[in-house]
Order: sequence, then structure tokens, then C-alpha cells
Amino acid sequence: MISAVATSQANLLIVNGRLWPPRPGRTALAVAGESIVALGTDAEIRELAAPGARVLDAAGGTVIPAFNDAHVHFLSGSRSLSGLDLFGALDLAAVRAAIEAFLAGGKAGPWLVGRGWQYAAFPGGMPALELLDRACPERPAYLEAYDGHTAWVNSPALRLAGASGEALRTGILKEAAMATVERVLPAPTFEEDLAALRRGMAVASARGVGSVQEAGAGQDQRALYQALRERGHLTLRMRLGFDLPPGLTAAAWEQRLDEYAESSVGLDGRWLSGGILKAFADGVIESRTAAMLRPYEGVESLGEPNWDWSELRRAVVEAQRRGWQVQVHAIGDAAVRAALDAFEAAAAERPPVALRHRVEHVETISAADLPRFGRLGVIASMQPSHAEPGRNLREAWAPRLGAERAGRGWAWGSILRTGGRLAFGSDWPVVPLDPGHALHVAVHRTTAAGEPAGGWLPGERVTLPEALSAHTEGSAYAERAEAWKGSLRPGQVADLALLGEDLSRPGLELPALKIRATVVGGRVVYEEGGPAS
Ligand SMILES: [Zn+2]
Repeated sequence: MISAVATSQANLLIVNGRLWPPRPGRTALAVAGESIVALGTDAEIRELAAPGARVLDAAGGTVIPAFNDAHVHFLSGSRSLSGLDLFGALDLAAVRAAIEAFLAGGKAGPWLVGRGWQYAAFPGGMPALELLDRACPERPAYLEAYDGHTAWVNSPALRLAGASGEALRTGILKEAAMATVERVLPAPTFEEDLAALRRGMAVASARGVGSVQEAGAGQDQRALYQALRERGHLTLRMRLGFDLPPGLTAAAWEQRLDEYAESSVGLDGRWLSGGILKAFADGVIESRTAAMLRPYEGVESLGEPNWDWSELRRAVVEAQRRGWQVQVHAIGDAAVRAALDAFEAAAAERPPVALRHRVEHVETISAADLPRFGRLGVIASMQPSHAEPGRNLREAWAPRLGAERAGRGWAWGSILRTGGRLAFGSDWPVVPLDPGHALHVAVHRTTAAGEPAGGWLPGERVTLPEALSAHTEGSAYAERAEAWKGSLRPGQVADLALLGEDLSRPGLELPALKIRATVVGGRVVYEEGGPAS
């Protein structure tokens, strides 16, 4: 037994399980307060129980470190839970039916708000104003595409917003134009946001997630999480990323960093932390806004980078000088290269520091840049569910790039094999918060239904232990927290997911990964079929 505690101190035991990674003589673990204190056999662990200790029977299932989602938009995902969800509506009829059912159910407020529609669900790849006007004629409607880069609105919404031009005919607002209608959307109150976050945390707990990392706008969200913490409602560890915007003068950037330093005081706990800045280098491939080294297939465009690359370099170097870790959203191969260039410039600073800078997404990459993750110690923060080889990937993503570049899509296998580190997440609400699905795509590179047989770009598959490590310890490493969370060891916090099955069983269906219980900080925050404590 590996133990860091005397007998009779453990108040929570998990027995009759398999601890991850599997090793002989490890079927149980003991928790005292917030921490794991021992791993061993059932008999060894039962000896550590304090009087009245709670015992969870794992029934042969695997106990893993709770998932850590390295890239979410948790507030936006939580808010979206009460809106219309169109993610599963894959054709016109399904979209129409979902809108009608939502309205008929009396679930809409003064506005019909929702998200998740997919371009491929509509003829021509874009929804029509008339369809939404017919389905929702009176109430203003604002429906975001699944990627958050386009909004579909109806005529009442356009009138309220005083919109003009093309949008009046199409009902479509892209990128910055979305703000036209966003501005007049009723803003949730502080208490409504707290209620939404509690629903979001319940979703996370039910999926075995114990930690999440908010990818941007964190500077505006601190008060919400602090209120949850003070009221004893924070059941998820939260790391907030602050925005690193382009277009600031050097002086304005330094002033912003001064403000961030001030608002970061106290933001260094184990439940609520910060210390990281998020920059958007580019957009997305589907709308050809991701920044590319060579033009998109069939058009002259290289995409729409958000930064002048030398400006990005200077901003990263200055941020690092003040101790900030930096994460850069980079989807196209030019943006990935620019982010790596900025981190390489930062790495050349003296004295050298290792802040573990990160590139987020990395949807396609030049072959020459693959080994730079390992060489520079830069983390590839990737969201396997984005790479599910379904209709969107086949019909909207791959054709924009052409075969050669699409052939380096989501190259997590190559990054890992060239010495790079991976951190996995979801990007919720862009895709569902579902680590089981992420593991499935990471390991098989197929849809949930198993297509294509053998996997899309099977050379990029990773093993289940590698994928699980990226979604737990890897994500913890990416937030500089692996010393105290992300693995099952005495002394680590007791953030655990108890799975319904033995993970080492061949043929295990990962998309159907069953979570029987989730423990965060020693507290059972989710139990299948039971009340959470
Ligand atoms: Zn994101």
C-alpha cells in the first residue's frame, strides 16, 4: 500500500474498483478531507476508515482522476442550457421541429435564444430568414451557429436592433456583425448567471469533470465564481483566462497588464485561479477566417488573422516578462506558426522561464512545425470532439483545405510522438461537454457510430492511456497544477470519477462512458441515480 496517513483518518473510501493506471494490488483508495491519502487493496484501505466513514462500492469499475477540461466557455455553455439547443438537428425538418417544440413547450422568454445549428443542415450551407420568420413570427429570435461565429436572427430581432443592409434580407450575421443584435439581447442578471452556472456545474459533474479552464473573458467573470465559492456552491475547480486583445499600443498593453495584475490578487487558490492570458490569432476554417500559409482551396484568400504577427510576438514577450502564461487560439497553419514563433521569441528571453505557453485548437499545421511543440515546451491544447469525422468535417472543413493540408488535421499523435505535450478539452458549448466522446475520437478517429472504419488519419490515433492522461494530468500540467491534481496519488486532491466499467476491457464503448460518481475535493458532487451531497 502507498499511504500518507495513519489509521482511522479516512472519511471516504472507494473499494472494489480498479485504480487508473491499473496495477496489481490496487483496488481501493482512501480520502481524508480534501485529499487522497492512500491507495491499496480493499483490506488495507478499510483499515484506514474513520468511524462513520462513507464507503463507495466501485463494483469493478475504474476510478480515474476527474477529467480536467482545458478549454471551455463555461459561462456561455451554462447560459445556453436554458436556451434552444439545435446541435443535434441535422436537417431542415429537424431544425424546424426543434424550434416549434421549444416554443410550444413555453420555454422561451421574451426572446427565442439558442445555439448549436450546423451549416450543413441547410441547403447552401446557411439558414434562411424566411424559415425563422415563419417558425417564430412574433418574438425576436437569436440563434448562434455551433461554432459561435455566425448568428441567425429573425425580422423582429433585426427591427429591434435597427439593423441595416444585407442582414435584413438574409437574417445572417457573421463574426463582428453579430454584435448588432447581441447588443439588444436582454442581459442575464447576476443571480440568473449564478443559477445558470450551477446548472452548468451539474452537467460537468455528471460527466466526471472536476476542473475546467475558461478560455477568455475571465476578467469579467471573477465575481460570479467568487460568489459561488462564498455561498458554498462551487463544485468545480475553475481557472479563468483573461483576454489578450490585439490593436493596443505598447503603453496601453502595459497599462492593461497592470490592471490585470491588480484584479488577479487572490486569484491563486485551488478552486478559483487565473494567471493565464488568451489571444485569438485567427478564426475558423469553415468560414475561411483561419489564417493559412497558402490560399484556401479555390479562392485567393489566406484567411483573416486577428494580429499583426510581430505585434503578437511583442505582446507575448511582455506578458511573459510579467509572469503570465499565454494561450493562443490558432486554428490555421499560419496562426499556429505565428503562435510558435511568438513563444520561441519568448523562450529566447533571459533569464529563461518555463511558463508552459499553449496553442489552442491546432486544427492544421505545417509538417515543419510539428516538432516545435516538443522542442519549445509548448503545450498543444486540443479538443478531440472537433475532429469527429462526420458531415461537417467532410463537407465544410476538409474541402476548404484540400487533401494535403486536411491530411494533417488535428495531429495529436504526431505532436505527442515528437515530444510535445497534450491537454484535452471540449470547447463547450461549441460541442457537448462530453469527455467520453473526446476519448473516443482521440483513440479511434471515428464518429460515435464508428465511421470511417479504421479511422480518419489513423496515424494520428493515440492510445486510451495517452488520451486519458491528456484529459487529466495533461490538462493539469497545462495549468501548472500537476503537483496537486490530475493523478491518483497520496497527497493529490481527491478529484475522482468513478466509471461504471473496467476501462481496460477490450471493446469498451467510449462514447457511452458511464459515470457512476464524481468526487471533487473529497466531496461527492455527483452520484448516478442519487442525490449529490
Ligand atoms: Zn474556444
